[in-house]
Amino acid sequence: MNIILMGPPGAGKGTQSEKILAKYNIPHISTGDMFREAIKNQTKLGMEAQSYINSGKLVPDEVTIGLVKERLSQPDCANGYLLDGFPRTIPQAEALEKLSQEIARPVEIVVNITANKDVLVERISQRRVCPSCGNSYHLTFKKPQVENVCDGCGASLIQRKDDTIESLNVRLDAYENQTKPLVDFYSEKGLCKEVDGLQSIDDVFKNIQDILDEVK
Ligand code: ADP
Ligand code: AMP
Repeated sequence: MNIILMGPPGAGKGTQSEKILAKYNIPHISTGDMFREAIKNQTKLGMEAQSYINSGKLVPDEVTIGLVKERLSQPDCANGYLLDGFPRTIPQAEALEKLSQEIARPVEIVVNITANKDVLVERISQRRVCPSCGNSYHLTFKKPQVENVCDGCGASLIQRKDDTIESLNVRLDAYENQTKPLVDFYSEKGLCKEVDGLQSIDDVFKNIQDILDEVK
C-alpha cells in the first residue's frame, strides 16, 4: 500500500504509524524522524535543518524533497510506503507525484487525522519522547510503565525542543498556511479520507484500518 498520513502537529500521526506498521508491515517514512536522527548524528543535513525545526518552521522544500527522493528509491519501498509528515507543501506534493510515478507506486490513499487547537496544545505539551530509540509517550494517554523511563530501551524520556508553546504556534501557522491546502489537492483526486483524531488512540486506529482494508 502507498499511504500518506496527514494532520496537524499532535494529531496522532506518529502514534498511528506505529500501529499501522505493526499490522501492515510497510516502511514508515517520517521526515521529522529522519531530520531528528540527522541532528542527533550532527550530519550536514542535520545542521542545515536544526534551526528550522527548533523554531517550528518548515525545512526548505529542496532539502526535504531530496531526502524523500533518496529514501523512496530504496528497495524496501518497492512494496509500498507509509509517509508521515510528508508532503507538507504543494511543491512537495507535486514532487511526490513525480517520484511516486518513477517507482511505479502512486499514492493510493491519504488519511487526514483532524483535531482542534486546544487538543493539539494539550497533546504536544504532554508528549515525551525517548532520545535513544524515538518511542513516543503521553503523560496521561500513553504512559510509560515506569515514570519517565522508555519501555523499549530504558533511557530517560525528554520533551522535544520544538514542543514548546512558541514553536507549536509557528508549526500550527505553517500547517494552516502551507499544509492544509493539501487536503483540497488530494480531495480533488478522490484520495483523501478524514478520520476524527479526537477519539481514543484505539478508536482512531479502528477507523484507519477500515479505510486501509478497503484499499487492499
Ligand atoms: P504527531 O505525530 O501527529 O505530531 P503524535 O502521534 O506524536 O502526533 O501524538 C502527539 C501526542 O498525543 C503524543 O503524546 C501521543 O501519545 C498523544 N496521542 C496521540 N493520539 C492520541 C489520541 N487519539 N488520544 C490521546 N492522546 C493521543
Ligand atoms: P514532525 O516530527 O512531523 O512533527 O516534524 C518536526 C519538524 O520537522 C517540523 O516542524 C519541520 O520543521 C520539520 N519537517 C518534518 N517534515 C517536514 C516536511 N515535509 N517539510 C518541511 N519540514 C518538515
